[in-house]
Amino acid sequence: MGKPTGFIEYAQEQLADRDPIERVKDWQDFHLPMSEEALKRQAARCMACGVPYCHSGVMINGMASGCPLHNAPPEWNDLVYRGLWEKALERLTRTNNFPEFTGRVCPSPCQGACTTGLVGDPVTIRTIECTIIDKAYEAGWVQPEVPAVRTGKKVAVVGAGPAGLACAAQLNKAGHTVTVYERADRAGGLLMYGIPNMKLEKQVVQRRIDVMEASGITFVTGTEVGKDIPATQLQQAYDAVVLCGGATKPRDLPVPGRELAGIHFAVDFLKANTKSLLDSNHEDGNYISAAGKDVIVIGGGDTGTDCVGTSLRHGCNTVTQLEIMPKMPDERTPDNPWPQFPRVCKTDYGQQEAIARFGADPRQYCITTKRFVGDENGHVQEVHTVQVEWVKDQQGRFIPKEIPGSEKVYPAQLVLLAMGFLGPEDTVLEQLGVERDPRSNAKAEEGSYATNVPGIFAAGDMRRGQSLVVWAISEGRQAARECDRYLMGSTNLP
Ligand SMILES: Cc1cc2nc3c(=O)[nH]c(=O)nc-3n(C[C@H](O)[C@H](O)[C@H](O)COP(=O)(O)OP(=O)(O)OC[C@H]3O[C@@H](n4cnc5c(N)ncnc54)[C@H](O)[C@@H]3O)c2cc1C
Ligand code: SF4
Repeated sequence: MGKPTGFIEYAQEQLADRDPIERVKDWQDFHLPMSEEALKRQAARCMACGVPYCHSGVMINGMASGCPLHNAPPEWNDLVYRGLWEKALERLTRTNNFPEFTGRVCPSPCQGACTTGLVGDPVTIRTIECTIIDKAYEAGWVQPEVPAVRTGKKVAVVGAGPAGLACAAQLNKAGHTVTVYERADRAGGLLMYGIPNMKLEKQVVQRRIDVMEASGITFVTGTEVGKDIPATQLQQAYDAVVLCGGATKPRDLPVPGRELAGIHFAVDFLKANTKSLLDSNHEDGNYISAAGKDVIVIGGGDTGTDCVGTSLRHGCNTVTQLEIMPKMPDERTPDNPWPQFPRVCKTDYGQQEAIARFGADPRQYCITTKRFVGDENGHVQEVHTVQVEWVKDQQGRFIPKEIPGSEKVYPAQLVLLAMGFLGPEDTVLEQLGVERDPRSNAKAEEGSYATNVPGIFAAGDMRRGQSLVVWAISEGRQAARECDRYLMGSTNLP
């Protein structure tokens, strides 16, 4: 603990953001860096409390409390306060392969469980984490790690999202020869083609892929396992296969008018936008433009926010976000105490930008969509909605009940469906005969990550359903450990 009185002397300082009106004119990161002095003050706020919860990563009330990777913020906070950045990096990367991703996009369950946050504002753990790794890249401390000895075992990883990348990095460290198969033309999964640039610039993702390639990992992009190569061929050619294909089936909204042009799944909109931006700075026109349109985003969460931020950058006429759920409280409620993940209303970057641009929060709560109405060319023109209230049914479950007379019509030339995901795609799992759990995810126990098929493992969203980057990295690491144990009979991987 660098400074015992730090949490009394220094107030919390958040990372400053760029002016919302200015930042929607480009696709660069919306955060501004924090000075080294300010960062050390923030690190000094860590109390190094006797029983820290920030690295526990346990599930309480259905949400993660503390870091699922078991990162140890008190240790690197102390090192940062003392200016020992390289040592901080060494401590941080013992538990996290990719702090440059979590440091930018993680919702920080660590901060919700920080003891300083029990009576005041928590330590800004995520910002410190991000700065440690950014400084490390600048200083040239992040170097390829080529294992001294190869085991002669070959592993195929299907999917190059954070789970597949973490798994590949760990298996490579253990000396196995790893090939990552990815359907998209670029590796990164939703880090590349889901989360947009302003939240996670793509050179940050590519920089890591380059380090991994230089460490000896092979990436085969533009190749869909199950279609371009039968999944059973991988099973024969490799000693083990780890499935990290994500949970990419989007939830649809089967109401009248769904077939109209101009209604898209959020990820199709976000992916096309990033690809066109990276390929040609949008000059190829291969994206769904929101320019000049009234945009309705149906659904909330990170995906909904990213659709709002992207539509604003295209120059939409208006943007409205419809959520079926009620607004979350502004403060923790008594049934959501520390150290649980705080279930509070968060006005994220996209909403902040919409407020700055149009003067009002784009979110409308307790609204359900009844139908879409089109123009004479079959293009969506209106979204018809009704307000709901949440009432208990006979089993005591909350269900939405329509409020008569609350119907409303929104003009819309672009509708984006951001209502979550239903689970993994079927092809690979069916070809390999992998059993599914009741939610249709690949069935593999947490801890073993082994499916019912010997030598086939599953991790990340494909195993747990659509979740978070931090969980994907955690599962990828653990699946690598179990795969190593399967291949070698024992393992030294954490
Ligand atoms: C728009 C959006 C924004 C998000 N924002 C955040 C956020 O801010 N913070 C956060 O923590 N989480 C966020 N998430 C969730 C997070 O991105 C995911 O939980 C995480 O990426 C899951 O990692 P994964 O590796 O399991 O799967 P994915 O990232 O989905 O990667 C799976 C990869 O497998 C590939 N693949 C699938 N099938 C095959 C096949 N047959 N052959 C070859 N390749 C295949 C896919 O192309 C994909 O690249 C967001 C999700 C979305 C959709
Ligand atoms: S990965 Fe997320 S939960 Fe873990 S320390 Fe970093 S910000 Fe916190």
